[in-house]
Amino acid sequence: MMSDVPTDRIIEMSYPTKIVFGPGAIERVPAEIERLGMKRPLVVTDAGIVKAGLVERLCGVLSRARIACEIFDGVEPDPSEKDAFDGVDAYRDRRCDGVIAMGGGSPLDVGKLVQLLSTHEPPLSRYDDATGGDKYVRPDLPPGIAIPTTAGSGSEVSRSAVASLQDTGRKTIIFSPHLLPRVAICDPLLTVGLPPGLTAATGMDAFTHCLEAYVASGFHPLADALAIDGIQRVGRSLERVVEDGKDLAGRGDMMIAAIEGAMAFQKGLGAAHALAQALGAVSKLHHGLANAVVLPAVMEFNRAASAHRLAAVAIALGDNSLAREEVLAANAIERVRRLNEAVAIPKRLRDVGVKEEDLPRIAEKAFQDTSHPTNPRKCAQADLLAIAREAF
Ligand SMILES: [Zn+2]
Repeated sequence: MMSDVPTDRIIEMSYPTKIVFGPGAIERVPAEIERLGMKRPLVVTDAGIVKAGLVERLCGVLSRARIACEIFDGVEPDPSEKDAFDGVDAYRDRRCDGVIAMGGGSPLDVGKLVQLLSTHEPPLSRYDDATGGDKYVRPDLPPGIAIPTTAGSGSEVSRSAVASLQDTGRKTIIFSPHLLPRVAICDPLLTVGLPPGLTAATGMDAFTHCLEAYVASGFHPLADALAIDGIQRVGRSLERVVEDGKDLAGRGDMMIAAIEGAMAFQKGLGAAHALAQALGAVSKLHHGLANAVVLPAVMEFNRAASAHRLAAVAIALGDNSLAREEVLAANAIERVRRLNEAVAIPKRLRDVGVKEEDLPRIAEKAFQDTSHPTNPRKCAQADLLAIAREAF
């Protein structure tokens, strides 16, 4: 194959987050707090993480190091601007000087927004990535530590935060390198209690990040290498951890795959994420579940345009048939269908409460989403509707 290195443009690639990974990594939080010069961090989390006993575990670590455990647990499942306002009120009331965000994608995102609003004027719509708001984000944010308790969004190493905004009423992405957590504490022990359904849905989100980034148009060999490694890890471990949540090596694989997926999608995502964002907004579908259900139909749509890459996906998922590229590409789609089935992801959108009459609106919203322009095959709104119908 000819080299794919572009000789006519300049590319940027960036992986700056410090990652502390391994069972018991949570014990390193006090050392990182000290290194970052925090005296009084605010723990940003949600009620479910408190109920699961994970915040208590963090507070135990902090109190042994004589650090106060100030908690804001008001983050809602699909966070809105209000969650960030409430969080920053708590941050100011308690005179905090940094943020420790703990939880799934939502608390980690709100943690970033609390950091932002502690030094930046509201409203958040000012900083909306879609309208070039990133230029208003200055570097003077207080330090942030991210502690994921799921293996999915990869928000712990990403430079974006998603929330629905009061001004526009829609889910909006705030995007800036200054939102990157300074440290990600990735402790697989924190994910062993995650129930099978959420393990599967969040795990398929990580998988979709890797897959869409890998086949995305554009030149990013670092992202490609991370994505293909993530695909291998999900392929060998997602089914195992859905079956046995205490499988620590498998949980570690999934945590690494989530990190790799989020690092890889700086290259771009694709039609599955465009549809998943729309399905979240219109049908209130879980983000990871939405991705998982539409992914085979998206791969089918992309099959001819990215046969070479999809063949590599099949091999990463364990195909050693040495078949022709087109056959391997078809095998990749079949393997993703089987993976979905093995972790009990429903087959069709109709099985997860999506209404047929909503499909046109879903396609319209998906077309407005910024994820699909890097899809390997160009999608018109009619294409997104056809994919959604196929998945339905
Ligand atoms: Zn995602």
